[in-house]
Amino acid sequence: MANSTLTLTTPNAFKYLKLLGKHFGQGVPTQHDASEMTVPLPFGTCQMTANAGVLTITVSGASADLTRSEQLVASHLVRFAFRENPTLTWQRDLRDAIHSKGSTMTTQTSELSRRDLLKGVTLTVGAAALLRTGLAPTAAVAQGDLPAGTVHSFSKGGVTFHTYVSPAQAVNVTSHIVEFDDQLLVVDATMLPPTAQEVSALIQSTGKPVGMAYISHEHPDHWGGASFIEGVSFSTLPQVRDGLRGEATGGQWPEPTNVLNGADLVTGMTEMSGVPVEIRHYENAEAPHIAVAVLPDQKVAIVQDLVYNGVYFAPGVDRMNWIKILEELRDDPACDTLLVGHGLPTTRGDLDTAIAYLKVLDNVMTTSATPDDAIAALKAEFPGYGGEFLLSLISEYWQG
Ligand SMILES: [Zn+2]
Repeated sequence: MANSTLTLTTPNAFKYLKLLGKHFGQGVPTQHDASEMTVPLPFGTCQMTANAGVLTITVSGASADLTRSEQLVASHLVRFAFRENPTLTWQRDLRDAIHSKGSTMTTQTSELSRRDLLKGVTLTVGAAALLRTGLAPTAAVAQGDLPAGTVHSFSKGGVTFHTYVSPAQAVNVTSHIVEFDDQLLVVDATMLPPTAQEVSALIQSTGKPVGMAYISHEHPDHWGGASFIEGVSFSTLPQVRDGLRGEATGGQWPEPTNVLNGADLVTGMTEMSGVPVEIRHYENAEAPHIAVAVLPDQKVAIVQDLVYNGVYFAPGVDRMNWIKILEELRDDPACDTLLVGHGLPTTRGDLDTAIAYLKVLDNVMTTSATPDDAIAALKAEFPGYGGEFLLSLISEYWQG
């Protein structure tokens, strides 16, 4: 189940509710009084509430059917409200789809067009981030209604790094493909079937086998698409696999057997095609456990959700510890270039930006009276950031 809500500010809320009730009441049974109405639609349900000055309409149903329900209701409302010539904007509820803390997601596996569910959200990578990195994006293959992701590639010390950045609707979540002489390292699988298919196409375009692939942490935006990356088995830290198992087997995502049955990711130094690669394990930062890959010779660190670039951060597990980890990375000679979990690749200087952000975030989380106050304070402090949806996670993490 997914839902979408329209809020219309109008002096005629009661009148429109009555007219909509009268219209829909002709063909289908409705329950209504002067201010509340429930209408069974052909492919879902519609609930309307009127009060002085505002009409609120929520349609719910399978995510693939939401557009039809929205159009059906809006087409009538536009006619009844033609004198006001209103702009009707639906807001789709995504909270369950991304970074859900438990297994609260209600969308079924059969409804894979989660891109419909995501369509209503506007998220953008900060334009400043684009300028900062100076990397030219190339469009990946567009699929369906979801815009294409972008691929950002650069070479350093004989190794080529490709970062796939999902479109804004999929919270700019990344997958990184590190191309060595004769093999690849793949980090994370992105969230949705279309974005994962683009990652898969990118892997195949190199013509090289995957020597190692791993999932960095338990949040579903990083593994939700894994089953669409065929022929690749993802290892991960045992704690990460335990953390994601409940959600991964709950039927809400295409079951990522290539993650659940993957090997344990071994921490420490290893080599890929003669290039040193260090796998590190950090605890209690943005997620309970996260794996980070560091290539000391290239001075590149794949830090994933320890750093968000130009996107609002998720509230995290222990922000003071998170800051401590970032301060260590800031002093680490291997961390010149950072490949992050959300947004474009960036550089060491962004660690200071991230630390400053987390200090503000921690302050507003502990001093604001309500989640809404905290969100307003963050927006005021970081006006250029994308990913406003991520701010709604603040109320979920709120300890009142
Ligand atoms: Zn994430």
